Amino acid sequence: MPRFSLNAQILSGTVLGVLLGLWLAALDQDSAASQQGLYAAGLVGNLFIDLLKMILVPLVFTSIAVGVASLRAHQQMHRVWVTTLGFFVFSMAVAIALGMGAANLFEPGKGLHLALFQDAMQNFEARQMSLPEFIQHFLHGLFMNPFAALAQGNVLALVIFALFLGIALVMGGERYRNILALLEEGLEITLRIVGWVMRLAPLGIMALLVKLVATQDAAMLATLGKFVAVVLGTTLLHGMVVLPLIGYLVAGVTPLKFWRGAREALLTAFATSSSSATLPVTLRCVEQHLHVKPEIASFVVPLGATINMDGTALYEAAAALFIANLAGVDLNLMQQMIVFVTAMLAAIGAPGIPSAGMVTMVMVLQSVGLPAEAIAILLPIDRLLDAFRTAVNVEGDMVGSLVVQKLVKHSEKKAP
Ligand code: ASP
Repeated sequence: MPRFSLNAQILSGTVLGVLLGLWLAALDQDSAASQQGLYAAGLVGNLFIDLLKMILVPLVFTSIAVGVASLRAHQQMHRVWVTTLGFFVFSMAVAIALGMGAANLFEPGKGLHLALFQDAMQNFEARQMSLPEFIQHFLHGLFMNPFAALAQGNVLALVIFALFLGIALVMGGERYRNILALLEEGLEITLRIVGWVMRLAPLGIMALLVKLVATQDAAMLATLGKFVAVVLGTTLLHGMVVLPLIGYLVAGVTPLKFWRGAREALLTAFATSSSSATLPVTLRCVEQHLHVKPEIASFVVPLGATINMDGTALYEAAAALFIANLAGVDLNLMQQMIVFVTAMLAAIGAPGIPSAGMVTMVMVLQSVGLPAEAIAILLPIDRLLDAFRTAVNVEGDMVGSLVVQKLVKHSEKKAP
């Protein structure tokens, strides 16, 4: 009997999950079958996410430290840094431009009556956070006692500490070779555990999709149809055309080859709505399927999972224009530029967890004086949009690692 490959299993799990979800959604919500189905899906789905999160912290820590330490071999640390950050800012800027362009063109929300949502808004209190507060909060969260960050699973603080550790290992050279060897073996062993967790991926992804599809609020989706269409349309355009095109033009990887290699990570991101939880899978895809060198991948991917979010940036900008339309406010060019910049900051600051973008969006709205409470309108449709934007967030990290590898290699060749 031919072996059913993991990829094929994951694809079958995806299709089955969507079908089962549709079936559950059609059942009477109070029926025993529906309740038990949702319970079982929640149980299995959460177990899968828990397993990914279990391995996430040791993986991020060892991967970044080893990644930075092995950049020494290249004498290229500086170039990798600059190219990585440059790519992140560039791809998020393109995503935001797409989202804002479409929102200006189609004007979702114009003519929709705000009163429709008053109920939702009444009982909602948004966490108020202005731009200066956000920046303070963000910077403050960067540096943390590494043990506390490890224990709390604070990925961004962990990334920063691991960067320091990696740099110290490089500076110390031979002196710390034992610690480096320990970290390298740590990385190897965590990747082995990731391989085991992935065996559960088909089932986990199926369960998560059952729940996602079955609990969609179809009426709300229809009401906000135009906005949903603008966001999904531009997110898909970015994910299916722009990013693969960059990967092809810069790194020479054809879209087909890219998708084949990236599939596991894209589906996991879609099902979990969490870039962080997906990170173990992303790293595996980038290194094993897309053949990015470990020292590049283990630097670019974990950093990208926490700060590079194309889908989130696009969403935050488009949503701000949507809410302005709902509120009957016309944003001038200057205000639109403020939205552009704050949407990028908000995406950088959003942790890679479900619905994080909703929280940091408050800041984008407030930057141009829109009511923060208005995000209540978006909450019912956020689960679905989050799935798509998280997949594109993760895709951006994968394309980023291909691009960085190519550009760094190129400059190496040119150097004498
Ligand atoms: N869920 C997204 C992610 O993990 C963040 C967001 O809410 O936009 O990438």
